[in-house]
Amino acid sequence: MDLSVRDITFCKNVGSRRADILRKELKVVTALDLLYHFPYRYIDRSRFYRISEIADEDTAVQIIGQITEYHPIGVGPSKRLSATFTDGTSNIELVWFKGVKYVKLELNTPYLLFGKPSLFNHTWNIVHPELTPMSKVKPEMTLGLEPQYPTTEGMKRAGMTSKGLRQIIASLLPDLRAGVPDTLGADLKAKYKLVSLTEALLNVHFPKDTASMQRARERLKFEELFYIQLQILRQAKRREKNIGYPMPLVGKKFHAFYRDHLPFELTGAQKRVLHEIHGDLKSGRQMNRLLQGDVGSGKTLVALLCALLAADNGYQTCIMVPTEILAKQHMETVSRMLEGTGVKVALLTGSTTRVQRGPLHEALRSGEIDILIGTHALIEDEVQFANLGLCIIDEQHRFGVKQRSRLWLKNEHAPHILVMTATPIPRTLAMTMYGDLQVSTIDELPPGRKPVQTFHYTFNRRQSINDFIRKQIALGRQIYVVYPLIKENEKLDMQDLQNGFNQLCETFPEYRISMVHGQMKAADKEAQMQRFVQGETQILVATTVIEVGVNVPNATVMIIENAERFGLSQLHQLRGRVGRGADQSYCVLVTRTELAKPTRQRMDIMVATNDGFKIADTDLKLRGPGEMEGTLQSGTPFELRIASLVTDGQLLEIARHAAKDILDEDPDLSSDMNRIYKHRLDILRQSGQANMLWGEIL
Ligand code: ADP
Ligand code: MG
Repeated sequence: MDLSVRDITFCKNVGSRRADILRKELKVVTALDLLYHFPYRYIDRSRFYRISEIADEDTAVQIIGQITEYHPIGVGPSKRLSATFTDGTSNIELVWFKGVKYVKLELNTPYLLFGKPSLFNHTWNIVHPELTPMSKVKPEMTLGLEPQYPTTEGMKRAGMTSKGLRQIIASLLPDLRAGVPDTLGADLKAKYKLVSLTEALLNVHFPKDTASMQRARERLKFEELFYIQLQILRQAKRREKNIGYPMPLVGKKFHAFYRDHLPFELTGAQKRVLHEIHGDLKSGRQMNRLLQGDVGSGKTLVALLCALLAADNGYQTCIMVPTEILAKQHMETVSRMLEGTGVKVALLTGSTTRVQRGPLHEALRSGEIDILIGTHALIEDEVQFANLGLCIIDEQHRFGVKQRSRLWLKNEHAPHILVMTATPIPRTLAMTMYGDLQVSTIDELPPGRKPVQTFHYTFNRRQSINDFIRKQIALGRQIYVVYPLIKENEKLDMQDLQNGFNQLCETFPEYRISMVHGQMKAADKEAQMQRFVQGETQILVATTVIEVGVNVPNATVMIIENAERFGLSQLHQLRGRVGRGADQSYCVLVTRTELAKPTRQRMDIMVATNDGFKIADTDLKLRGPGEMEGTLQSGTPFELRIASLVTDGQLLEIARHAAKDILDEDPDLSSDMNRIYKHRLDILRQSGQANMLWGEIL
């Protein structure tokens, strides 16, 4: 029977209890679904180890030897069995905790031992090894590569360990050999030298040899990436047809500002991205553009110039930012720059009072206000615009998908969308997450910036850090000291912050110190911030509320406490708060002395480079895309089963080309040859495996 319709319940070794678990934990419904549950690695059963060769705990080993001695330990339910196994080169201890009474051991008989060694009390141990008398070892047991499957706790409890799954999948092989319908057309397979789906599934689970396993994986990775790209590019093509408000004019507002109010010459990169954006705005098609530029690259000014273009064409703009502090800061910067231009700006945040809201709503509806800056408060339904033509979203990763989509609905057609981010997104991730957005990049910082110097100190060098603070303040500079604040750990984190603050007060009785954190009232927070901004206080102690957008050019030192607890992109963002003026700035990462390897690597890359792209790439490599900051809240749109955005960048490019070629010729996938792709996309969508971030929005 066709494996794609065969209910997993009725497959050998499954039954209704296991089927329930498979459905819940892996979303496996049919036999074919289970064949798409791929091994994460293989153990080479053709290789035999000597005990003296065992070097690490991660690799399962296979050894031929004998048991020289065994004895039970303890009594009753905690009874264990321990045995000594030797192969002449050395000894290894075997241990059983469970099912002890079923273990039958014979001395001085050759056994094939298989299991994962662990180091305990300076000796190698294997807990619950597979032990087979050599007389019963069948030749095929020690051939080829044995697949290891990812499992969950629930699966293990129902006996579906890696081995259990292997048995279930093995029993599907006879039917699989009869062939499954392919998901890629013959032409595509020929062009990219890909094996058939049947061959790929056979060899991904039970490979004949390494080469056929690699060909199988290559084909399955291609398939996975190809369908993602096909869907993204199809969305993009559809979106290209969206009507956009035409904004062809470069008018008085823009020109007057550019001539008389521009505080500095634009950088080449700012000019280029402005040009790209203007190209979209006048095209008559709706713009969907991602503007990425490192912290401090001058995105705000670009946003403002875009808003002026919209205003020149009779449209309003809203600029949405993630925090109240940032909204206020933007409001100040923008209104200062616009002074005397006649362009009207307004602010709307959670703390805008009811009394203020009445006239504000009215002015938005009448079109009197050109630019509205705000937090998510501006999404609320009662906020209506006369003619919203452009939405600019700053630091987009802090908004959820739903929040963004509500902005889209404030006018007859979707407004032009400009998403700005300071967290550069590695190309592979951008191609999957934002593959249907145009991307503009500001790859140049304003002139005269001195790169921030970064140091990594362990906390026992507090004295040096304090000396450094003193020196900088003596030069007239200001200092940030930032503490992590994680929800799960809020109480302890608040204590850390408070202790840190007290200690600074004790160490520096001669300085004034502000403190801000998320639990303060907005007004108090604002007052403390203002004291620092005005230079009344020399040190600002804060949680990450200052992470985004604060601009105090006189602050030249960023001290990040417990830096090991911050992610890379957060560290980079925080560092971006200094280095905004003409003076040399510094970032000090303070950690405990003993660090896990990935943590040390994070500190090292921070010390080594200021390049946000390098940092983002490293972040992706160290943590994997699923856990990248910036994707946590919006969620990664795809769960990749076999391909990796870290290592399969090249294959991703190839798959993207393949998808693009097909869509260029047949955008609706309606030809006979392409029906196979349309069909597969439908299936993926129905099974919820193609929930696209941007697809959900429009
Ligand atoms: P971000 O891209 O991080 O949002 P901002 O827009 O906050 O960066 O700009 C950072 C700083 O650089 C601000 O103080 C801004 O006034 C300044 N700036 C922006 N563009 C230029 C420029 N072309 N020349 C000099 N300074 C600039
Ligand atoms: Mg900014």
